[in-house]
Formats: sequence, C-alpha cells, structure tokens
Amino acid sequence: MNRSKLIPPVVLGALAVLGVVLIAGPVAGGPAPAPDGDDGDDLADRLRVRHGAAVDRIIAASLENDGAWAKLEYLCQDIGHRLSGSASLDRAIGWSVEAMKRDGHENVGAERVMVPKWVRGRESVAMVSPRWQPIRMLGLGGSVATPPEGITAPVVVVEDEEQLEALGEDGAKGKIVLFDNRMPAYDRETGSGYGQTVRFRVHGARLAAAKGAVASLVRSVTAHSLNTPHTGGMRYGDAERKIPHAAITTEGADLIHGLTKRGREVTLRLHMEARDDGFVPSANVVGELRGRERPDEVVVIGGHIDSWDVGQGAHDDGTGCVIPMEAITVLRRLGLRPRRTIRVVLWTNEENGLGGAREYARVHADELPKTVAAIESDSGGFAPRGFSVDMADDEKEALAAKQLAAIVSLLEDVGATESRAGFSGADVSPMTPHGVPTMGLWVEGDKYFDYHHTDADTLDKVDPDELRRCVATMAVGAYILAEMDGRLGEPTDGSSRIR
Ligand SMILES: [Zn+2]
Repeated sequence: MNRSKLIPPVVLGALAVLGVVLIAGPVAGGPAPAPDGDDGDDLADRLRVRHGAAVDRIIAASLENDGAWAKLEYLCQDIGHRLSGSASLDRAIGWSVEAMKRDGHENVGAERVMVPKWVRGRESVAMVSPRWQPIRMLGLGGSVATPPEGITAPVVVVEDEEQLEALGEDGAKGKIVLFDNRMPAYDRETGSGYGQTVRFRVHGARLAAAKGAVASLVRSVTAHSLNTPHTGGMRYGDAERKIPHAAITTEGADLIHGLTKRGREVTLRLHMEARDDGFVPSANVVGELRGRERPDEVVVIGGHIDSWDVGQGAHDDGTGCVIPMEAITVLRRLGLRPRRTIRVVLWTNEENGLGGAREYARVHADELPKTVAAIESDSGGFAPRGFSVDMADDEKEALAAKQLAAIVSLLEDVGATESRAGFSGADVSPMTPHGVPTMGLWVEGDKYFDYHHTDADTLDKVDPDELRRCVATMAVGAYILAEMDGRLGEPTDGSSRIR
C-alpha cells in the first residue's frame, strides 16, 4: 500500500526537516532523496545515516557488559526455579523490581495478577513386569494425583491419534496409554518439531480417558535426551474423567515400546501426589526508560519471570528476563533516551496459564493503540539471528518483516541479521489481535529443546558471549523502534516515515 498521495501539509514540513538532516549527513552536496513511499533498501540506508553512530555505541557497550550475566547468575543460583504460586517466584518478582530500581529505571513496579498454584509432590513410574525398572518421569503441570497406593496397570502404546482410534471404543479400558510420538530433529530452515509433537503432552489425558484409560504418559517432547524427562503444561478440556498425566524420558518410552513391539506385556506402576491449590496472588513486573518526545507511546520488551519447577529456568526464561532488563540499562548508561518509552515487562504465569500476559493486555488495553511494538524473548539466550514478527493483518506483517530486515542490517557486528514473519511469543500474543506488531527475539534453536522444561535448564548451558549478543540485538531493536515515526507494518513514507 502506498500512502504518498495522502501526505498532509504538516508532514511535508517535517520531510523538509528530514531533507536537511540527510544533506548534513553522508549525502552532503547531493539532492535530498525524495520520499519514495517504499520500504526497500533505502530504509536501511536512512536508518544507518540517522542512527548508525548510536547503534555502534549500543553494540560496543552491550558486548563489553556483564550485567545480564550477573543478573542471570542471581536468578538461577540464588533463586532457582520459580513455578507460579511458589515462594521462589515471589522472590524472583521482588528481586527484579529491586534490580530495575538499582539500574535507575522509571515507573518500576509490580502489577498484581492471580495465578494458579499447582504443586507437584512426590512422583514416580516403575515398570513392574516383565522386569522391575524405574523410569525417569515428570508429572505434567495441572495433572491430578493417582490414588495414594498408585496405579498399577498394563500399558498400551500408540504413536498418534490414528493408532489410539484403532484401539476401538474401550480399547484402553483399565490401561495406561503411552503416547510415543517422536519429535523430529531440529532443522535450521524449518525449526524444531516441537509444535507438531507437543499436542500429546497438552491433550493426551483427555484423549486417553475417552478410551477408558486409567492414566496416560507421553514421550518427552525433545529430539535429544540424556535420560532427562521434560515437563510442561497439559489441559483436561472437556474430559469427562481426569486421569493422571506424566512425561517419561525418550529412553523409557523406547524401552517400553520396544518390549511391546516384541509381544511382551508391560505393566507399569505410576504414583503421583500432585495437587491443585487454587489461585494465589502474583505479579507482572514493569520498568521503563521513559521516552523524551512521545512518552505515552511504548515499545514493550520482555520475557516471563515464572518457570517450571525443575532446573533453574535458565534459558526458559531467565535469559528472556535479563536480556530486556539489561537492554534498557545499556541505553540509559549511554544517555540514549529514545523518542518513545521502552517498557520492560516480566510476565508471570506463562508456563501454566498465560495469566500474566492476558492481564497485561487487559489492564493496558487503552495503551495498545499506542504500543508501537512488543518484543518477547522466550526462545532461550542463544546466538541471536534477528527478529520475527507476527501481526493480525497479513499485508502489514509482510511490510513489517521487510522493515525489520532494514533494522537488523544494522546488527551485522552481532550476527543477528535475519527477519521473518511468523511466531512472536506467547506473552505478547494477547496483543496481536489488537493490532500491535508483536515480535520475537529470534535465536539459534538447535539446543533449546534439549534443555526445555528439564532439570538440565541451568546456568552452565548459557554462553556469556551469546547472552551479550542477545542484549545488543534487543537494545538496538528496541531503540530503533522507539525512535521511528510510525508503527512497524505501516508505510514509512509521509506521516509514518521511519527517520
Ligand atoms: Zn518460556
């Protein structure tokens, strides 16, 4: 879409000012480039002219800065994992408020959100026949418990919905169903196979219960395992009966499935003490680098402060919290106050409810028309590749991806030069239908799902240099978006020209 014919006179005045700026830059002596109404290659040039020096300073300051690492150390080692409703999540929320105040940020505070409190309790799975063998497992968040004596039952293995259906009406009656659906290996072009595999973790209990099962298990959602079970969220939906639901290691699934394929009857004993303690208070944490010209317009950057109750929540989503926190600290220390406000938001309860994200979009509904972009970091703190963007309007989304390509062309020194349309992040997703350009910090994904939701998601899996490069990418992205005239996805000619 080209809006160049609609430029009001007041904006033409502003463009004349822009011409002066450009003439004073590298194009001195030549004619000021006419607004072409296009967001092609010249946008990258314009951004470089106007912001190149600031971007160089941001990158240099981010790459020699260990502030994000120091914050991550505290979050991972002093606080540890932090499931919704836990005392450790309350400590993490209190710590992040104090840390943002210490860094000198504005409007730092906690915004109350009610969150579910699910408590794992003791749990185990053992194969009791044809021989005794404990199997590594983790109950899935939201699951009910077994009776105190546990559930001992034969297992039936299915790989997908079709095989479950083939069991017939009561084909799983009195049995434990094991969903042995393999997650494909990571592919740099197509990404992980998480999206196509996770459905059995989320919906397996409902599917199995409908066939008369007494409990259900899933193969951990990972393509690579060192006998590490992966937890995660599950839902009963409209299930008539709630049955216990847990993940076992891929090694455990291979053992059980290998035996059943060779005609052995396998009996398991499952024991889970999980309980639901209802809803309790929690909070989203916010802090700002206030804008110098249009402080009521906002670029949101953030991650989720909660984690599963295993490991340290280092990549999921400790890095996603400290990257935006440090990004505005870098800008503040450099004295770079952009035209718009950059607001850090650390959402609560992403993992088992998305309560914080929904509450943020609800409480800040009036601000959404003035939210020019919302970036989430929730894919781990690995080597940054660039940004993804997700918008309700496909045409705007395609334009936004093109504009982002121009923005990330400034990030060659950190290797984050890619942009794509597609998934942004769970916590920013409630803003997408309201027209907010929602974005994700896009990082290398080859290792993320090896650690995801496990006891192995710990600080040692984070590379300090990759973390610094993520800070640089987030800081530069947020800074440019907070400086530009229009919102991402709008033509940058005329009234919404990116300057
Ligand atoms: Zn996450």
